[in-house]
Amino acid sequence: MSNTRTIPFFNYPALFRETEQEFVQIFKDVCSRGAYILQKDLLELEDNLKKFLNVKHVFGVADGTNALILGLKAIDIGPGDEVIVPSHTYIASAAAVALVGATPVLCDIGDDNLIDPISAEQKITKNTKAIMPVHVNGRTCAMAPLEDLAKRYNLMIVEDAAQALGSKYKGKCAGTFGKFGTFSFYPAKVLGCFGDGGAIITNDDEVAKKLSLLRDHGRDKNGRVISWGTNSRLDNLQAAFLNFKLQTFPEDIQKRREIALQYHEAFKNLEELDLPPGPDDSQHHIDIYQNYEMGADNRDELKKYLQEKGISTIIQWGGTPVHQFKELGFNEHLPKTEAFFKKCLMLPMNVSLSYDDINYIIDAVRSFYKK
Ligand SMILES: *Cc1c(COP(=O)(O)O)cnc(C)c1O
Repeated sequence: MSNTRTIPFFNYPALFRETEQEFVQIFKDVCSRGAYILQKDLLELEDNLKKFLNVKHVFGVADGTNALILGLKAIDIGPGDEVIVPSHTYIASAAAVALVGATPVLCDIGDDNLIDPISAEQKITKNTKAIMPVHVNGRTCAMAPLEDLAKRYNLMIVEDAAQALGSKYKGKCAGTFGKFGTFSFYPAKVLGCFGDGGAIITNDDEVAKKLSLLRDHGRDKNGRVISWGTNSRLDNLQAAFLNFKLQTFPEDIQKRREIALQYHEAFKNLEELDLPPGPDDSQHHIDIYQNYEMGADNRDELKKYLQEKGISTIIQWGGTPVHQFKELGFNEHLPKTEAFFKKCLMLPMNVSLSYDDINYIIDAVRSFYKK
């Protein structure tokens, strides 16, 4: 196999160029209206997301981390409270809990590499208020056992769906199972903007009322301050770009699922790899493949080998699960999470990839294992 390609993990410039004219047009349109803060483009995006997700309330906010912080504030999580969070997540999930003054309690993952209800149950104390499933890589957690757990212990469910816009479990979208769900529009996310952005969703009218105040300085519809709030508004310009991208979002998901299927078919007989579920593997799940993350024998050598072939891969979150950030005071042993992080590797997964790129990546992985 010749080394003829350079495949970046994510290709921002290519993505921009694809619909550059439309983006420039949107920029001109929004700026010529001077419509920057809480304007119609944001309202339209929020309405479109309501329909797409089948949820009652959507608020565009500064980013996915702020979405979590505002959500936790809106349900009165604070000092003395504990929230159970899987250690297999981005630091932001746990940080949001800490930043509202509560304590993030980390638990292990199950065989699906997502929050394990059994490990979560072991972490419940009299101070536990909520469980935060994180739908990592665009797969909605198996919610039934988590809902059962929450019911038995009278806990709230709050969802970090930053990686899972449009992902479903038993026909329901990620983010719509709990008190609230959060999304990120970070540029490399499935629906990414040109900078930071996020959203929070809820079906609870009371929570919605608090969120609308929290994100805009505690101001009601008439501009009167009626509670403490902050500034966490999704820029109207970003909302306009996102609204445009949302039109073709279902096709983007379809393309990701097709790429996942190609990887799956090509690798399913390689015993050196632990693959994520294929797109058609379960009748309960619709995965959107924010990432294609697998476990790989000789992971570090494979990464190096692929880099030499021009293929960029990523070890998610620098290879460190949250509970191993010792400076944050964690000191637990979570065997499944630790085993996962020793082998995890993400292959390129995005809509800029061509079929030749995918075949090149597949050939390179197979040739590393001499298959
Ligand atoms: C991206 C991400 C976030 C944070 O989103 P930002 O928009 O970057 O603040 C939170 N949780 C998970 C799992 C993420 O992947």
